[in-house]
Amino acid sequence: MTLARQDEGQIDVRQDNLPVYDNPSEVVKRSSQWASALMAAVEKQEMFANTGNGKKYLEVEAWLFLAEFAGAYSIAQEPTPIENKDGEITGYKCVAVLYQNNNIISQGTMTCGLDAFPCRGKQGSEKDKAAMSSAQTWAISKSIQNKYRYVAKLAGFEGASADEMRNNEGAMFSGNSADFCPVHDLSWRPAGKTKELMHIVEGEKGARGGNVWCKKEEFVGSLLDQMTVIAKSGTHDADVIANTSKRWNSMSPAEKFEAVQSFQQPTEAPEEPEDNIEYEDENEIIEAVV
Ligand SMILES: [Zn+2]
Repeated sequence: MTLARQDEGQIDVRQDNLPVYDNPSEVVKRSSQWASALMAAVEKQEMFANTGNGKKYLEVEAWLFLAEFAGAYSIAQEPTPIENKDGEITGYKCVAVLYQNNNIISQGTMTCGLDAFPCRGKQGSEKDKAAMSSAQTWAISKSIQNKYRYVAKLAGFEGASADEMRNNEGAMFSGNSADFCPVHDLSWRPAGKTKELMHIVEGEKGARGGNVWCKKEEFVGSLLDQMTVIAKSGTHDADVIANTSKRWNSMSPAEKFEAVQSFQQPTEAPEEPEDNIEYEDENEIIEAVV
């Protein structure tokens, strides 16, 4: 993974970039009010990602929202390619500058490698486009984080962004996060009119050229269907099945997925080549394959 924190620093930090309060306790009060308002809006719109360890990371939209609260805006510069020693492009780097009242108050630099999650499933120039776009978005988010991390902290969120964590420590999201899709390594997020939890399947297009969506409810439902087939098949230890069934409702999608996969593994290597197994009818073949 090539997403890196290249710039943790702030530049040209001015004292007049926030509403000015001479009284420090006023500043604290103001920041806390800001944080509470942020928290309420972010929670309502679910503009954050949960990890298994109970930490919450703001999505890019939430950082933009936070900047807007401060009357600040970030402008990303043109992304520049990152090349390896053979001259091959491995990703893109971008710098974004955060302004307030025409003053520069912070800056952020981010890179997005062609191997990072936004580029997965894409080919050729589409891959470069995705990396450039993510580097810009992340740099914007970073410039805001560098300045307003403390507000996120006050509101009970982590100082890093959700995307940063997805790239650097993807495993954190895979654990027991309730909204993490273990198949595509992405978080399901509320989308569309119904705010149903889903994510776009990268690199896939529907029959009419639209996005293909992976929906949490459908995915978890299909795992339950598969688990039901497994339980009925009687091919596994009844106690193990009963135990899994009992825990099912408290299991994360990743745990359910893992359980179903483990039950679907052949428990012992077949002694005979498959050609020699005789099936009475087609239904039995289907059951055996399942
Ligand atoms: Zn998915």
